[in-house]
Amino acid sequence: MAKYRGPVCRLCRREGVKLFLKGSRCMTEKCAIERRSYPPGQHGQGRQRISEYSAQLREKQKLRRIYGLQERQFRGFFGKAERRAGITGEHLLKLLECRLDNVVYRLGFASSRKEARQLVNHGHLLLNGRKTDIPACVVKAGDVVEVRERSRALVPVLSALEAVDGRGIPGWLELDRAAFKGTVRALPTKEEIALPVNEQMVVELYSR
Ligand code: SF4
Repeated sequence: MAKYRGPVCRLCRREGVKLFLKGSRCMTEKCAIERRSYPPGQHGQGRQRISEYSAQLREKQKLRRIYGLQERQFRGFFGKAERRAGITGEHLLKLLECRLDNVVYRLGFASSRKEARQLVNHGHLLLNGRKTDIPACVVKAGDVVEVRERSRALVPVLSALEAVDGRGIPGWLELDRAAFKGTVRALPTKEEIALPVNEQMVVELYSR
């Protein structure tokens, strides 16, 4: 499936919740969900018919869009989750949450997951002291993520760190702000991930 290049606020409006795709703008009253909280398009304000399939599809799209993945990448993560023993939906959430780009965003080195992915792609991050430019890499408990010394003066990194207090750092991560370094204290629990998504419906969709 082709990469979506349209306005991202439209995606939030389609899902009916804030997906936080635009960094600091998402915290202001300029947020499109605050101003027009109905689906986009000509029939956006009309009556919506919701079948079981479309409800499941919306949950999958929501989760995929939050993490900014294309269908094939998302399906790959689902396959990994499915192969693990236990509850597939929870494994899926944990795997997505432990992606390096998401960890960079959660630690406050970037103001959105998209920006975090770009920082990783451009080699501004170290994972356990080694340069890593793979945003999809999954971190483990005890891993250390840091901004490279030469990248610590980057304006997007500094402004993201300034703004991170507004959204807070989850308990499974620990940030040493002065050292531009974060540690994965433990793998996140489902409660700590706290996304407005019913992951069980995603599992049901793929099990059809
Ligand atoms: Fe979504 Fe952010 Fe746009 Fe609001 S500002 S609609 S949260 S991307």
